Amino acid sequence: MATSIAVEIILIFSTMFIAVTIAALWFAFSASKLKHKRDLQEKKMNIIDKHFNDMLRIECPYCRTIYFANRSECPNCKANTKRILFPEIPIT
Ligand SMILES: [Zn+2]
Repeated sequence: MATSIAVEIILIFSTMFIAVTIAALWFAFSASKLKHKRDLQEKKMNIIDKHFNDMLRIECPYCRTIYFANRSECPNCKANTKRILFPEIPIT
């Protein structure tokens, strides 16, 4: 009788141990997956950001020259000013 209780306790503990191990492994796996996903998202955002910057235009308030947002100054009068114009939406 005493031995069966001991076996039962060992069984319960080993089951719990296995469950905890599986949970820990699953958590580690999902965490790494999440990190990978976040890395991908970051990469995607960088690409979108780059393209968006390429699309942006700046209008110089002094000479009205329109130039790319990745330039820090007006190519015409060298004024270091930034006035962001959003890309024109084609109206059909
Ligand atoms: Zn200018």
